[in-house]
Amino acid sequence: MYDPLTTSSPGIGEPYPESYWAKNVQTPTPNPLIGHIDTPVAIIGAGYTGLSCAWHLAKNYQIPAVVLEANQIGWGCSGRNAGFVLNGTGRLSWTQIQSQWGAHTANRLYAEYRQGIDTVTDLIEQGKIACDKQTGGYLKVAHKASLVSGLQQQAGLLQQQFQDPVRFIDAKTLQQQYLNSEEAHGALLFPYCFGIQPLKLARGYAQLACEQGAQLYSHSPVTQWHKDKDKTVLTTSEGTVSADKVVIATNGYTPRQFHPGVDNRHFPVLSSVIVTEPLTDQQLKACGLKAGLMVMDTRSLKYYYRLLPDNRILFGGRGAIRGKDANHPCYRQRLLGALIQSFPQLRELQVAHFWSGWVSVSLDDYPRICQADEAGNLFYSMGYCGSGVSFSTQAGKRLAQRVAGDNTLPDLPFFQSPLPRFPLARARRVGLWAFYHFGRLKDRFG
Ligand SMILES: Cc1cc2nc3c(=O)[nH]c(=O)nc-3n(C[C@H](O)[C@H](O)[C@H](O)COP(=O)(O)OP(=O)(O)OC[C@H]3O[C@@H](n4cnc5c(N)ncnc54)[C@H](O)[C@@H]3O)c2cc1C
Repeated sequence: MYDPLTTSSPGIGEPYPESYWAKNVQTPTPNPLIGHIDTPVAIIGAGYTGLSCAWHLAKNYQIPAVVLEANQIGWGCSGRNAGFVLNGTGRLSWTQIQSQWGAHTANRLYAEYRQGIDTVTDLIEQGKIACDKQTGGYLKVAHKASLVSGLQQQAGLLQQQFQDPVRFIDAKTLQQQYLNSEEAHGALLFPYCFGIQPLKLARGYAQLACEQGAQLYSHSPVTQWHKDKDKTVLTTSEGTVSADKVVIATNGYTPRQFHPGVDNRHFPVLSSVIVTEPLTDQQLKACGLKAGLMVMDTRSLKYYYRLLPDNRILFGGRGAIRGKDANHPCYRQRLLGALIQSFPQLRELQVAHFWSGWVSVSLDDYPRICQADEAGNLFYSMGYCGSGVSFSTQAGKRLAQRVAGDNTLPDLPFFQSPLPRFPLARARRVGLWAFYHFGRLKDRFG
């Protein structure tokens, strides 16, 4: 599998992974950039960030951008994720956010996150995007009884400070109404979060952006850059683009040594997913998993799962450390083992699909949407730390504002500084290995 820490190109026109999402979606006809074009804005990467940016530029500022994608629309995380549309991004808890920036900024961040969900909803409605929306809410489950009081405290903070409609669900109600798991001792229910088919969402965004005047090119990896007076010239496999402004929307798939503005400012980490065969009526009854519900646990190394519309379970968690190990059956087996540990009544269940994707982790656990040069011609948004379905869509909207010179951005930490560089960039994987070992011990004995 492509490894962004060791490879300088994500490929040319690579097919979608053999995921459950790609199974019934036809690969679009390739549309590579051939020859030379001029554009006010070139966007590199056709995931949610790049596509949302293209749509908002065209719709709100009448700026028709060119989007260059190395492989297929939504080939990166946007076509591979679990489809949880959540309230937030990064890895900081609300308590950490408050102590780092104070209550006032925490309130504004909360508003931005909720707006992210609204922005996804708005695009789905505007494009009439058929992305199999499931509205059961998001459940954050205490996998140990000792973690229940922490969840109750969180519920209090969210309700009082942000008027969030979150509800605490006790163990008995949880088992009777939501899921019958051995690792569910209490939970928080966020009723406004929802699930989607991620690849259909990405392709819906692409269609919206095109209808609004953006030009999308697949099979067109950007391999080189140079300056020509005030313009930036991007070279792809069969063409060149001369742009006034460039947006890097390559996130966890940003190739090695791509541009000094982003090199070593994030850490690509694998997240993996299995999708099972459809559950029988008996299995459905035994696990009691409520339709439409999206679930994540309280582990340091989190597991997440949901029941899909055709009664399969999608179950995800951390993957391998290196790209070359990503498809090793042991990672598929580990996810199945974790699923069966939560639901021993499903021990006969078989895996039908297994795939992985690169999420972008920032050094200080929150993303940036920023200008990357003094002249104001280069921008990027990345570092969502594995929680980016709603936030990348919102980030695309904010990027469009920045690129268009619209000064009405809210005053938030995302916009105020670049992503910090990793001090020992070469040691990132050793650090991840140590973190996984520590996390495993903490989850077992902590
Ligand atoms: C298994 C998994 C499960 C996840 N589940 C969830 C979830 O349930 N909820 C949630 O909120 N988040 C989830 N995420 C994270 C979420 O999917 C991402 O944060 C989000 O999709 C990022 O979108 P993006 O547009 O920024 O990047 P991507 O979708 O990764 O797009 C980047 C694109 O850039 C392209 N590219 C790279 N280099 C070049 C180049 N040189 N030239 C041209 N193109 C290039 C790549 O081909 C790729 O298509 C998950 C991620 C994974 C991997």
